[in-house]
Amino acid sequence: MNIQALVVKVASRCNINCTYCYMYNHADQSYLVQPKFMSKSTVEALKEKIKNHCLSHNLNSFFVVLHGGEPLLSSVKDLAFFLETLHSLHEDGINIIFAMQTNGMLISKQHCELFNKYNVGVGISLDGDKEVNDMYRIDKKGNGTFERVKQGINVAKEHMEFPLGCLSVINFQSSPIDLYEAYRSLGFSTINLLLLDENYDSIDQVPRLKNADWLIELFNYWYDLEGNKKTSIIKFEDFINLIFGSESSSESAGKGYNKLAVIETNGDIESLDVLKICGESFTKHKFNLHTNEFDDIFQSDLIDVYYNSKQMLCKKCLACPVNEVCGGGYLPHRYSSKNGFNNPSVYCDDLLMLITHIQNRVIDSLPENLIEETGIQKLTYQDAVKLIEEKLPTIPEPAYAKKLESFALSN
Ligand code: SF4
Ligand code: SF4
Repeated sequence: MNIQALVVKVASRCNINCTYCYMYNHADQSYLVQPKFMSKSTVEALKEKIKNHCLSHNLNSFFVVLHGGEPLLSSVKDLAFFLETLHSLHEDGINIIFAMQTNGMLISKQHCELFNKYNVGVGISLDGDKEVNDMYRIDKKGNGTFERVKQGINVAKEHMEFPLGCLSVINFQSSPIDLYEAYRSLGFSTINLLLLDENYDSIDQVPRLKNADWLIELFNYWYDLEGNKKTSIIKFEDFINLIFGSESSSESAGKGYNKLAVIETNGDIESLDVLKICGESFTKHKFNLHTNEFDDIFQSDLIDVYYNSKQMLCKKCLACPVNEVCGGGYLPHRYSSKNGFNNPSVYCDDLLMLITHIQNRVIDSLPENLIEETGIQKLTYQDAVKLIEEKLPTIPEPAYAKKLESFALSN
């Protein structure tokens, strides 16, 4: 087991207050005791621990995603120190690949110069056009943020040498095609769509199959576009690659391991931050950069379950014909205070509907001789549901089920 990517919280607060934010507006309020910014000594400890880990696991490249809160709340000087400190690991033969996720409102020319210098891939969080974005992405006074994000995007477009990506939470009250066209007109090179972070304790708010209807409408529109009008939609490309048996780097699809950890501003090494939606201090492990190596975190059951989340599937997922594509869904979306993680995703029906739809559309576009050669077959959503119902009673309880259930509140 090893870690190959870190989400690093260089700032633990945000300049806005999105209503759905898993950091500030869900069960876990532990950010309140975190320092607002990462100190220089913690950045230096981070460098040392990445170096030790890469050397002991023969890794010559390592991903670092700057995150917050809002990472651009850090001063330009502090960000430059962070980037230069980690970049200097190339002297030890380690190439750090940087990315940043930001709400984009604070981007300046000076930031762009840093992004250019250190090849930082920048993703902007935005939920569509002004009307849709401003439903939930609001500032602390309740005002919409779209216009200010757009100003930041314009600054980035003027001064950055690389195109921006976009991270967007699906709002099925919006038109998927309007949203796609809004992103194209803003010039994003990739669109990363996220399902709203919900689990079994909160899912009542999300009507069944609404996300599938929305995503299928977008998929059909996007899939039929000519190449030069097609902006990369990572979720769809991942599913298509997985249907053809390729790997996906996504944490929420496929069969690979999740080799990612999170660093808080005080140097704490934690599990995936979205797991904060499962409860207060849910991701805390008492591991810290100043006292631990990354290998120490594998003692934690939560790290183990997250790392192996696409192997540790519940019985329904083990019976599911698309589990090698779906991967059982995103781990935070599987949680219930009753069963821990021994559940399919709360979005199971949406995922099954979407994946079978994509598979059938892709098969429809293949030449007949290839379909015959590969023996690839269509599978409707209804057939998949029936197959699961037939197979489920024959699946024994997996040995790891107790570990998945150990996170239930009764344990
Ligand atoms: S920009 Fe990100 S960190 Fe800030 S409130 Fe919105 S979702 Fe949370
Ligand atoms: S579609 Fe549902 S049952 Fe199938 S793997 Fe995904 S979450 Fe599990």
